[in-house]
Amino acid sequence: MTGHDFDLFVIGGGSGGVRAARIAAGHGARVGIAEEYRFGGTCVIRGCVPKKLMVYASRYSDAFEDARGFGWSLEEPSFDWNGLIAAKDKEIGRLEGLYHKGLETAGVAIFAERATFQDRHTLQLASGRTVTADKILIATGGTPNIDDKLQGREHVITSNEAFHLDKLPERVVIAGGGYIAVEFAGIFAGLGAETTLIYRGEKILRGFDEDLRDAVSEAYGKRGIRLILGHVFSRIEKAGSGLAGHLDNGAQLEADQIMFAIGRSPNVRGLGLEELGVERGWNGRIVVDGESRSSVDNIFAVGDVCDRFNLTPVAIREGHAFADTQFGGKPWRIDHQLIPTAVFSTPEIGTVGLPEHLAIEHCKVLDIYKSSFRPMRATLSGRDEKMLMKLLVDGESGKIVGCHVVGDDAAEIVQMAAIAMRMGARKEDFDNTMALHPSAAEELVTMRNRTETRRQAAG
Ligand code: FAD
Ligand code: NDP
Repeated sequence: MTGHDFDLFVIGGGSGGVRAARIAAGHGARVGIAEEYRFGGTCVIRGCVPKKLMVYASRYSDAFEDARGFGWSLEEPSFDWNGLIAAKDKEIGRLEGLYHKGLETAGVAIFAERATFQDRHTLQLASGRTVTADKILIATGGTPNIDDKLQGREHVITSNEAFHLDKLPERVVIAGGGYIAVEFAGIFAGLGAETTLIYRGEKILRGFDEDLRDAVSEAYGKRGIRLILGHVFSRIEKAGSGLAGHLDNGAQLEADQIMFAIGRSPNVRGLGLEELGVERGWNGRIVVDGESRSSVDNIFAVGDVCDRFNLTPVAIREGHAFADTQFGGKPWRIDHQLIPTAVFSTPEIGTVGLPEHLAIEHCKVLDIYKSSFRPMRATLSGRDEKMLMKLLVDGESGKIVGCHVVGDDAAEIVQMAAIAMRMGARKEDFDNTMALHPSAAEELVTMRNRTETRRQAAG
């Protein structure tokens, strides 16, 4: 027991904050939590969950087309954007309620308002009230970036607004080449919008394995998504009922919506961290140690605000480890190795471990197994899209160091492969595993012939 109002106060009711609050309260701590927008945070309210629901919606256009090859005949299907948004909002409301309920049941004091620091133990709430706490956890997530110098920036939307548009844009241009840009290009195109993606580099999805980048780029081209590479917007203005986007090469693009997905920054503005001397990184991220402790010893941070791996399961686990360690007498740290991840493009990417360009730095000898094949469904549907599977194997130990998949259910397949890799699976373990037939994933246990062996350059 401390002389403060709370043992722990959490700022931010998203993935990391809610998990930490509930677990700490379960360990008997007196916990308060403040959320300025909606409980559930980015993932539930305007991230993973509504995004995935929209991905599902966008894939029905493929399903309708493919069905013909299996003997079905359909009336011309039509799509109702407002119907989708209403159904999505209802589900998000339900999940938000569950988050609230979970906190209540755990005995956490809930403040539906913004919190900022007054001093290292005192928080100012938007209602004017102040509260004190022995330990404070910052779990304020991130916010979308827009180029500050871009003329006409007030005309563009980010992912935050994309979930609430009044109507499906007929023409949409998305700036960026990372997770959000690529996922939303797939969503809008699948729903029937004329979709253009403009990216400053030479190939989308920088950092991912080259073969994954190539496979998605090629598939997007075939799907009619226009990729403009090596350029950025220099100015955006209103034009008639839509927008005109001017590129740095003088070209002009017309669209009903222009969406920016050029990264996210830690959400720390106005929190009062400068006055406290909390150490920060180049983009404002809170610098923490392996126990999520900041440079001020009673202040901790988890999730996107630390900008380590900006994924929901990571934020949740960081919050859980923090609560167990500080309040449960069960110290543990999260291991940021071998984190599986997916890009919910269509076709989808699932990946875990090292991409080839990093694997070759890590392994003296790297064995590459690669298979690009027409999935069985495509034989009758006639869809011209291949599935890609790639295993990267340390040629000395035989351990699998990378597993990369593009195609239907890639995320589901890679989640399972991640378990095996976490247990130290070698290529021979995959080879000795009986195939499950007929499936796409069986390719991972039947790839016998090495595609290539690469050796590290001497010196
Ligand atoms: P958040 O979930 O962002 O929660 C922070 C909360 O703090 C917010 O609710 C905010 O309102 C609140 N807050 C901020 N400041 C204050 C304050 N001063 N006072 C009170 N409250 C405050 N990850 C995946 O793993 N899979 C996906 O498929 C995926 N898809 C995504 C799609 C999109 C479009 C986006 C934007 C993100 C996606 N992510 C995905 C990333 C994932 O959403 C984040 O990694 C995760 O939500 C981070 O959790 P967090 O707890 O750190 O922060
Ligand atoms: P990303 O970091 O994934 O991608 C940002 C993209 O914007 C990159 O292509 C980058 O180019 C480009 N870019 C950066 N700055 C500029 C600029 N000034 N002008 C033009 N282009 C620029 O960020 P996102 O916004 O897509 O997503 C944020 C994070 O959210 C992700 O990194 C991920 O952690 C998480 N997320 C996870 C998802 C999932 O798990 N499926 C889905 C959505 C988000 P370059 O590559 O050249 O730097």
